[in-house]
Amino acid sequence: MAEFYSEKIVKVRKPRQCEGCGQMLDKGDQALVYSGKFDGDFGHFTLHPECREAELAWNKMADTLYDEFISLSELEPDDWQWLLEDHPVVAARMNITAERIAEHQEEQRRIREYHMEQARKREAERTGRS
Ligand SMILES: [Zn+2]
Repeated sequence: MAEFYSEKIVKVRKPRQCEGCGQMLDKGDQALVYSGKFDGDFGHFTLHPECREAELAWNKMADTLYDEFISLSELEPDDWQWLLEDHPVVAARMNITAERIAEHQEEQRRIREYHMEQARKREAERTGRS
């Protein structure tokens, strides 16, 4: 849990990478800067305000707000649907689209089928041998 924490909205003076989506924050953009001491380490982070909002919403939902804070960049493909629906601006920045989600689900389906096929083969071999 943070021992010390501060958060403010600033105008970007030097382009830098957003800690959430990984995209660049350009000069003149609004950015949310937060700094704090977390488990004894001093941290300083810059994010798009929308990315921070999405990140907080996610951790609130997953109940990881204080113990193991999950950054946006750690979201699993299974969580993309949520991001796309609740935070479309952030999803767009991370290049997460309905097509990519569909592709991911299709891939998951193929992997499941492959494993089921392997299991069937093993079962056939086993019963064939006995
Ligand atoms: Zn961002």
